[in-house]
Amino acid sequence: MTPMPSLLPRPTILSIEPYVGGESKLPGVNRIVKLSSNEGAFGVPPAAKAAYAELAGELHRYPDGSAAPLRAALGARFKLDPAKIVCGNGSDEIIAHLILAFGGEGTELVMSAHGFVMYDIAGRYAGCQVIKVPEKNLTADVDAMLAAVGPRTRLMFLANPNNPTGSLLPAAEVARLRAGLREDVLLVLDSAYAEYVTRPDYDPGTALVEAGTNTVMTRTFSKVFGLGGVRLGWCYAPAHVVDVLNRVRGPFNVNAPAMAAGIAALAEPGWVEKSVAHNAEWRAKLSSALTAAGITVHPSEGNFILADFATAARAKAADAALKARGLIVRAMGAYSLPQCLRITVGTAEECTMVADTLAAFMQSADAA
Ligand SMILES: *Cc1c(COP(=O)(O)O)cnc(C)c1O
Repeated sequence: MTPMPSLLPRPTILSIEPYVGGESKLPGVNRIVKLSSNEGAFGVPPAAKAAYAELAGELHRYPDGSAAPLRAALGARFKLDPAKIVCGNGSDEIIAHLILAFGGEGTELVMSAHGFVMYDIAGRYAGCQVIKVPEKNLTADVDAMLAAVGPRTRLMFLANPNNPTGSLLPAAEVARLRAGLREDVLLVLDSAYAEYVTRPDYDPGTALVEAGTNTVMTRTFSKVFGLGGVRLGWCYAPAHVVDVLNRVRGPFNVNAPAMAAGIAALAEPGWVEKSVAHNAEWRAKLSSALTAAGITVHPSEGNFILADFATAARAKAADAALKARGLIVRAMGAYSLPQCLRITVGTAEECTMVADTLAAFMQSADAA
């Protein structure tokens, strides 16, 4: 749509490419397997489903605007101070508030080259100059990130593990990043995939927040907790950042059924353990099967893998071969990785379908 010449948004807004989510439909295909948005492999936790349904008769009531019961449940589960937790309509909402509150015209936001796209979108919305720092081996480069910081830098974002690359910085590297930053630069550690990490040298950001640095950890219910559809995320932050977020967020930004579902999901016995064990097993199996088929797979600590087909044309042909079998994965052109496809770790059957389809594809003339 062309805006009316007399009515224009702030200049940076029109530089934003609208976010395109993972596809979910294929015309003419009966059975769709959606592996394009990193939703958990096991659907909705049963207790969350029940809690959500139970609130149907209470929908005339405004939610608890302070999200107190949810913050208490998160505090108990993750051993955190509930007073330092802020909940949001997905962690995307919190990311945007942080950028609008601490960034804006005349400031810079630093992120790694293949960092999560929402930082770029919200950064432009706020009017920040978004600086994308080259990576090493598709992994954030601490020295280069620090070297990119200038006097106007106010925000640095690091998804750890990162989406879409799956790469991880160990706790010591993240601590070195924080130590090298001025205190007037807010470091946001986006730990959307924290639960899936199997490496022992990892901290999702808790330690740096508790150490009193200007660091925020964001988390979500959209991945391991299987609640992407209700939009529920949260952050752990220093008291003065919590205060800012509570001034700018909508007073009822988290809806009541989402909160009920979130509390129930946290209490579902064995859910995270089962999901994480499945993910570790099938992430490894899928990675080896693709590697054996001649595809480069980047090491991932998330619930997805990044498959590199060496050329954009081959990635596109592989995507078409998957789609022909109803398998929807994520094309990576928007991340400047057109030679790659990001594939969510699904059920055992779904992973096997992907592996078989791609093995056959690599043998076919289409892979040439
Ligand atoms: C999926 C994802 C999120 C979660 O966003 P929500 O708004 O909580 O659904 C945040 N950051 C990254 C890197 C993600 O991949």
